[in-house]
Amino acid sequence: MLSAPSGTGKSSIIKKLLEYPELNLGFSVSATSRAPRGTEQHGVEYYFISHEEFKRRADAGEFVEWEEVYPGTCYGTLKSEVQRVTDEGKNLIMDIDVKGGINVKKCFGEQAITIFILPPSKEELERRLRGRGTDAEDVIKKRLDKADFELSFASQFDVRVVNDDLDRAVEKVKKIIIEA
Ligand code: ADP
Ligand code: 5GP
Repeated sequence: MLSAPSGTGKSSIIKKLLEYPELNLGFSVSATSRAPRGTEQHGVEYYFISHEEFKRRADAGEFVEWEEVYPGTCYGTLKSEVQRVTDEGKNLIMDIDVKGGINVKKCFGEQAITIFILPPSKEELERRLRGRGTDAEDVIKKRLDKADFELSFASQFDVRVVNDDLDRAVEKVKKIIIEA
């Protein structure tokens, strides 16, 4: 499972990892109450649902875990996704916020590896968030404001990988998964 402040490069790393059949990874598609960004598609990056539907499904116990990651915006891992990926005989890979990551570790224990992706610097994180070109200024600000808080959780993860060069970071994560 990968966690990191938004803009560090988790999605980019996961996308590349999914290209290696030998890792046998299946991405857990989370549900979120935020709107799609750029080319994102329902059922691929996320299941995009309304806030009301999110709350209803949370109350119905459909999530393994969920968090209000940003004020008014919820994200959660659906039990049905964990089941789907497991039924396919694949290793589950999750992109999840720091609190969710720690909760999932409590749930899955030794079965899970928690990997914290670090940005090379705060300045580079800001550059990446702006460079992505998909978020409004207030959204970028919210994400940057939360980054220090999120980074303070890094030591609670099993391993930490700095995403300086994307290919190098992918190789490091790949090695961690293979050796697990
Ligand atoms: P996250 O999923 O953590 O929010 P993304 O994968 O969307 O982050 O990456 C944020 C932006 O940074 C994207 O525009 C992506 O292309 C870019 N990026 C990711 N990794 C690197 C890297 N190692 N060097 C430079 N840019 C990167
Ligand atoms: P983004 O909006 O950039 O796609 O994601 C914002 C944050 O939500 C990231 O930290 C991401 O890891 C987190 N996130 C995505 N899916 C989940 C999930 O299912 N559960 C939790 N707790 N966080 C998630």
